[in-house]
Amino acid sequence: MIHGGAGDLASIKNNRTAIRYLESIRTTLEYGREILAMGGSALECVEVCVTLLEDDPVFNAGCGSVLNAQGKVEMDAGIMNGADLTAGAVASVSNIANPVQLARLVMAESEHVMLVGKGAIEFGTKLGMKTIEDNYFHTETRLKQLHAAQDKNTTLLDHEALADDKFGTVGAVAWDYGGGLAAATSTGGIINKQAGRVGDSPIIGAGVYADNETCAVSATGYGEDFMRTVIAKAIADYIEITGADATAALRFGIDYLRRKVNGRGGVIMIDRKGYCASGFTTKKMIHGWIEHGGEVSCGF
Ligand code: ASP
Repeated sequence: MIHGGAGDLASIKNNRTAIRYLESIRTTLEYGREILAMGGSALECVEVCVTLLEDDPVFNAGCGSVLNAQGKVEMDAGIMNGADLTAGAVASVSNIANPVQLARLVMAESEHVMLVGKGAIEFGTKLGMKTIEDNYFHTETRLKQLHAAQDKNTTLLDHEALADDKFGTVGAVAWDYGGGLAAATSTGGIINKQAGRVGDSPIIGAGVYADNETCAVSATGYGEDFMRTVIAKAIADYIEITGADATAALRFGIDYLRRKVNGRGGVIMIDRKGYCASGFTTKKMIHGWIEHGGEVSCGF
C-alpha cells in the first residue's frame, strides 16, 4: 500500500494531473508486488517503492521536494522492519537523490537509528552513496509555491499550495509472504519551513512504524500534529492492547489525531493479518493498494 500525500488536492480536478498521478501509483504498486512475488521481503519492497516515488518529480520527496524558507531542499526519511524493530532514519539531508536508501543504510550499517544533516550525508558518501547537485531538485513550480507561501507568511502542505501537477510526501507499507511487515516514509517536508525543521516522516512511531505483531503504518500531513500524538505508535499500541484489526485501529488513530490536536493529514496501514486500511482528516489523500491477485485500487 502506498500514499502520495494528504491535503486539499484542488489540482486533482484537472484530469491530466489525475492521470499522471494514477500512472505513478499503479506502476509503483505493481513493481512492489513483483518484488514480494519473487520472494522479496516487506522491507525490500517498501524501500524500492519509496525510491520509485522519490524519483518521480510530481511527489514531494527526492527530486520533487519542496523548498524551505531559504529556498533550499532539506529532506527527511525513515524506514522500519517489523520483524525485529530495526529502523533507520535521516533528517534535514540535502543533495541525496534517495533519502530512503540512506535511511536503510543507517539501519543496516550503523549502530544508530537516526542521523541528521551533514553527518548523515558524510556517512552515506563514506559507504559509496553519491551526492547530487542542487539543480537536480529545484523546479520552477517549487519556487512558485515557496513565493506563494512567503507572500501569505505561512507554511503549507504541498497539496495546499498553488500547484498544477505536484503531489505530496510519499510512503509505503508492505506485508510479505513470510508475514513480515515494513514501513517507509520520505518527504521534502512542508513549504517555507524553517531551515533545520524536521517533520514526522523520519520519526519512528510518528510518521513511520512497523512491528510484525501489530501493524505497519506510514503517515502524511502536518508533521507537528503527528509528532505530538506519536500517531503511528498509538495505532500499533491500540492493536497490541485490544487485538483490533486494521479498520478499527485506523478509526481509533484518526479519531485520536482529530480529538487531541485537530490533526491535519492521514495514514495508510497494514495489520499483522494483512488487512489494509487508510484514513485522513484532510479533504483528500492520494493512496493505493494491491494484493496477491487482482488489480491496483487507488483513490484520493
Ligand atoms: N508529514 C510531512 C512533514 O510534516 C509533510 C507531508 O506529509 O506532506 O514534513
